[in-house]
Amino acid sequence: MYEVTLIPGDGIGPEITESTRQVIEATGINIKWHMVNAGLNVYENTGVLVPNDLYESLSKNKVALKGPITTPIGSGFRSINVMLRKKYDLYANIRPVKYISGIHSPYKNVDLVIFRENTEGLYAGIEEKINDEQYKSIKIITKKASTRIIHSAFKYASDHNKEKVTVVHKANILKLSDGLFLNTAREISKEYPNIKLEEVIVDNMCMQLVINPSRFEVIVTMNLYGDILSDLCAGLVGGLGVVPGANMGDHMAIFEAVHGSAPDIAGKNIANPTALILSGSMMLDYLGEKEKAKSIVNAVNTVIGNGQWITADLGGTATTKEYTNAIIDLI
Ligand code: NAD
Repeated sequence: MYEVTLIPGDGIGPEITESTRQVIEATGINIKWHMVNAGLNVYENTGVLVPNDLYESLSKNKVALKGPITTPIGSGFRSINVMLRKKYDLYANIRPVKYISGIHSPYKNVDLVIFRENTEGLYAGIEEKINDEQYKSIKIITKKASTRIIHSAFKYASDHNKEKVTVVHKANILKLSDGLFLNTAREISKEYPNIKLEEVIVDNMCMQLVINPSRFEVIVTMNLYGDILSDLCAGLVGGLGVVPGANMGDHMAIFEAVHGSAPDIAGKNIANPTALILSGSMMLDYLGEKEKAKSIVNAVNTVIGNGQWITADLGGTATTKEYTNAIIDLI
């Protein structure tokens, strides 16, 4: 039996985590869920953003499925998502972006994986007021964090017979910080003679992704660029509703969708749970349950390919529950 921490989160989080839990259980896997919440919902009820129970559960189980958590814009508390990734050193944010047949999109051959550095960069949270009209935010890039995320990307490429890793940077302007990241990629690439290193500046990368995304296989980049490129890539394959993710460290993994809490559609039973369901499949794969992980992907592909029970974001009329049930029926 596996023990997994389940964090419902805010907005559409409770709806899509419930769908995902049901789909995972339909595979027949034996999981004991430790449901512990954090975020805005919890704060409004208890005055605490992250209860100690969550830290205890994560430290014990070392694997979690997480719904999105709202972060106030401009002021208020700092992101709990960013905090958890830093606290548990979940340095690799891995986001596979794959076109699912049946989705309306001009890009039918997209099949790439983004490796985003997850613990530093401009998300280090070092911000300072100079005076009422000047503020500064500091970007931290270290050799250590750059090395491990770039290694992860190359190892993935090597394990999956990919030919190329694309490092995305802005080292023409940020010569020191992005320069360190780029040089680290050049060094590590020498350890993988069969894999080509491609270097692309981030602004050009946005254009290349829109013109011909199928030419990319594995993308490795810093925190902010990775966050932005992930949403861009989601847009290529049908939107945020379908792109999963994992936050991996050496000793813990938290699986979550790329998207946020989508307050505009929360509580309406219309959210697309695919991104979290596929994150759940990544979790089963991580746990070593390859067949069960695959059965979820197959069911999602069949239901979306069939088109009868797809949610509104993909042009359908199915509710979150109807779509979930259609998947469960196929597992
Ligand atoms: P968002 O990803 O929540 O939503 C962007 C748009 O995509 C919205 O129109 C939304 O309705 C749609 N969308 C997102 N997921 C969907 C789904 N599963 N099905 C159908 N439509 C979906 O981005 P936002 O509005 O910029 O952010 C809302 C909140 O989420 C913010 O507080 C932000 O900080 C937080 N956030 C959290 C995480 C996380 O927990 N990892 C990630 C990103 C954003």
